[in-house]
Amino acid sequence: MKANCLCGAIEIEAPNQHDVAICHCSTCRRWAGGPMFAVHCGFDVHFSGTEPSRYQSSDWAERGFCPNCGTHLFYHLLSGGEYILPAGLFQDQNFKLSSEIFIDEKPEFYQLKNETLKMTGQQVFEQFAKNH
Ligand SMILES: [Zn+2]
Ligand SMILES: [Zn+2]
Repeated sequence: MKANCLCGAIEIEAPNQHDVAICHCSTCRRWAGGPMFAVHCGFDVHFSGTEPSRYQSSDWAERGFCPNCGTHLFYHLLSGGEYILPAGLFQDQNFKLSSEIFIDEKPEFYQLKNETLKMTGQQVFEQFAKNH
């Protein structure tokens, strides 16, 4: 899949993906201005052009953005190195919304009709501990 930031300074290449997960956590909502529509892209993600700026948002992850236009580019796990990218970067991709995480941090003012696998933050951390 190919994408670029708003100003075009950064181009992104990632392996094709189908599933989108939404994260309702308070950090994602502050970062993205709403829940993050996230695509797990694995390790083989390449950025070209301007070097993305990075902000470490927790002990285990950093978030990247274009230093020129501010487009959000990735959530990156520091241990393991997996990249999780905003679905909106890939505007012509045929995605399916499959899961919602940190459902316990979702505010009341919106409800999604999609049938999804819903996990609390606690369940996500337990799964993360098992897989890493
Ligand atoms: Zn940009
Ligand atoms: Zn989140």
